[in-house]
Amino acid sequence: MRAVMLPGDRKVVHAEFPDPRPGPGQVLIQIKASGLCGSELHGIYQRDPSASTCLDGKIPGHEPSGVVVEIGDGVTAVKPGDRVLVYHIAGCGDCKFCRMGWMINCTTNKRSYGWDANGGHAEYMVAEAVNCIHLPEPLTFADGAHIACGGGTAYQALCRLQLSGRDRFAIFGLGPVGLGALIEAKAMGATVYAVDLVQERVDLASELGADVAMNGSDVDPLKVIADLSHGEGVEAAADFSGSGAGRNSALDACGVFGRVAWVGEGNLTTVEPSPQILHKQLTVIGSWVCGLWQMEELAGFMVRKGISFEPMISHRFSLDEIDEGLRLFDTGRTGKIVIEP
Ligand SMILES: [Zn+2]
Ligand SMILES: [Zn+2]
Repeated sequence: MRAVMLPGDRKVVHAEFPDPRPGPGQVLIQIKASGLCGSELHGIYQRDPSASTCLDGKIPGHEPSGVVVEIGDGVTAVKPGDRVLVYHIAGCGDCKFCRMGWMINCTTNKRSYGWDANGGHAEYMVAEAVNCIHLPEPLTFADGAHIACGGGTAYQALCRLQLSGRDRFAIFGLGPVGLGALIEAKAMGATVYAVDLVQERVDLASELGADVAMNGSDVDPLKVIADLSHGEGVEAAADFSGSGAGRNSALDACGVFGRVAWVGEGNLTTVEPSPQILHKQLTVIGSWVCGLWQMEELAGFMVRKGISFEPMISHRFSLDEIDEGLRLFDTGRTGKIVIEP
């Protein structure tokens, strides 16, 4: 089969791999959509090739969605022909967190498709059957790909913030995870103020229904949010940028008793706990990917609410054209990009 490898230094290697076969408890999936993710961009595509990584020799792509074409011994929950997305972390299956569906927190034997196990930037991939989540109609394979990482990641944060129609919600960082959070937050009824430093992403947020979308290079978002909320601040905020400025803005946009989620990864951040958190009685959570069941719940939520991630997809490429997709994504000026082998 055709597949891609990313050895670092922004290089793309197109390669032929032997056709994979499912072992016991596994399934073979024909990939229909494979999302590009920011963590893959920073951790794999851009990395220094001299730094050894668990990815060496493996196929990247941790947002796989497609059709089951073959099942291994003992598989009963899915069958050939089923449309699925793949929760991209396989765990030991036995620890407390695996048994809860939180394989992301397995510390015993965790393998992540697209990192240290073969992922979705290929014509086919093998996954554990337990990791497959049925993709209901009318959701598309691209919807499935985004649920498999970015959409699910946003969903956990919003659920733990208990976001509702009573909330004004400030989003800092409008990459694919932040844009997905915007779509989900609107469907939950929240009033959304969306902030980024890239105009293309601010424009996309406006098109996706942000009540106010602003470019932090042109205006002071905290001043605008203070004005919009008559000085109260918002009820909830989240940072998807991973920057110190974004994290601080999420804290500072909230009013007293506000709830804040930090989702974007990396970077050191300095905060002043007393004025920024304690005196405002804030609840601040860290949120990393989501539980297996939450991706299933998100798919059902999207069907009931009639929403899709399709409007935030700015580009689609075939596997042969993935070089161009990664190059564009690397500019930081796109919406979601999906590879459709
Ligand atoms: Zn990801
Ligand atoms: Zn485990």
